Amino acid sequence: MDDLVDTFGPEGPQGKILIVEDSQFFMHVLKRRVGQDLGFEVIAAETMAEAEAAIEAHGSELFLCLIDLILPDAPNGEIVDLMTGHKLPTVVFTGAFSEDLREQVLSHNVIDYVTKDSPASLEYLVSMVRRLCMNARLKAIVVDDSKTARAYIRDLLLLYRFQVLEATNGEEALDLLKEHPDARLVVTDYYMPKVDGFELTKRIRKTHTRGQLAVIGVSTGGSAPLSARFIKYGANDFINKPFLREEFFCRIAQNMDNLDYINALSRAAQLDPLTGLHNRRFLFEAAGKSLAATLRAGGRPAVAVVDLDNFKVINDTHGHDVGDQVLVALADVLRETIKRKSDIVARFGGEEFNIFTPDLHPDLAFTFFDGIRAAVEANRVDIPDVGPIQVTCSIGVTVQPDEDLRIMIQRADVLLYRAKEAGRNRVAVDSPVGSERITNPTNDPASPMTAAGEV
Ligand code: GH3
Ligand code: MG
Ligand code: MG
Repeated sequence: MDDLVDTFGPEGPQGKILIVEDSQFFMHVLKRRVGQDLGFEVIAAETMAEAEAAIEAHGSELFLCLIDLILPDAPNGEIVDLMTGHKLPTVVFTGAFSEDLREQVLSHNVIDYVTKDSPASLEYLVSMVRRLCMNARLKAIVVDDSKTARAYIRDLLLLYRFQVLEATNGEEALDLLKEHPDARLVVTDYYMPKVDGFELTKRIRKTHTRGQLAVIGVSTGGSAPLSARFIKYGANDFINKPFLREEFFCRIAQNMDNLDYINALSRAAQLDPLTGLHNRRFLFEAAGKSLAATLRAGGRPAVAVVDLDNFKVINDTHGHDVGDQVLVALADVLRETIKRKSDIVARFGGEEFNIFTPDLHPDLAFTFFDGIRAAVEANRVDIPDVGPIQVTCSIGVTVQPDEDLRIMIQRADVLLYRAKEAGRNRVAVDSPVGSERITNPTNDPASPMTAAGEV
């Protein structure tokens, strides 16, 4: 499941991580997991003195500090004071665990502590670093009319690396959400003037699903029914006051992880697993919406169906696996040749692909899609032990607008059939009024481009 979650986006993790650890073994393991696996630049220090020097040199670039509690020159956990004194986001790891130690560590403003006693705790540490890194890209809104209560939760969320916005009641929170519709977390009190916590949750659910935005209600002490009602109004979770900071972070982490999983699943449900292109389902959803919008705006939509020529022969000659590689290569050519963000390329099924362009001038459609045809023809798919394979495709394109995407696809299909009939490796295009035209490949001496005509 973790593989599905796109952790840091294309730009990778931001900032550096300071690891203070005198055990060579742990330093080695952490460097590998946090440095190599997660991609952070690691600054290593073995003693408190080295840590001080590292803070001096890198202070403002430090995203997080992972610190060992017991160091040769700081045997009583003095390192924690150094970190929190510099207001550095810090996670403590320790070989020993006791209630006293836990309280001592958590009384400082550290994010969490982790014991070094098992591989599971190392995994916990790594997943926490990943979570913090993702939090840094997420907006959270804290809603509470009490300034002190709001500031307390705001500071916790800041420590947990969120970008935090504040509202003093539900109405303000809804305004903030309008301004920042990409917010992923709302932590809200119940009793508030104007719009209370329940009403806020209810209204949020009109625009954001539980998979898009987590709402966490904070119930005032001793009012258990509030908690259940928060959930019934659409909250993802609730936290009873007073709560332990540790519990707060765990619940936030769990809720954010759930959102990530839901996102990853819905992304996966829109993709074709073989080629990574969008699938048919996404095409109908996204192109359907885009078509309606473009027609309202007076745009000129085009729909194309691309089908490989004699693909069955490739499967029969070289096997299904080679056929699959040819399909992947075709998808790559389509990705490379169709660059406009608003265009949608999808694998419709089998060896048939679909292209939706929301606004393409009918006079250019012919040239544009013939360029794709030519790029497929020019491409060579290198298959180890088989050699380069050349494939061609036929393309049917309709530029005759219709409110129903299905009808446009059917028209493009009919044109595809015409291109196949005319000899394959061709593009058949209609016109906004319905007349048709078929290209011939430029390298076919029997039917030069100039012979292209109306059919
Ligand atoms: P035409 O030029 O008329 O389109 O001929 P064709 O051989 O490409 O078309 P046909 O419909 O006869 O055969 C399509 C083949 O594509 C048959 C099917 O087994 C194969 N195919 C469909 N999906 C996949 C796939 O995911 N992987 C592989 N390797 N082959 C597939
Ligand atoms: Mg030590
Ligand atoms: Mg085919």
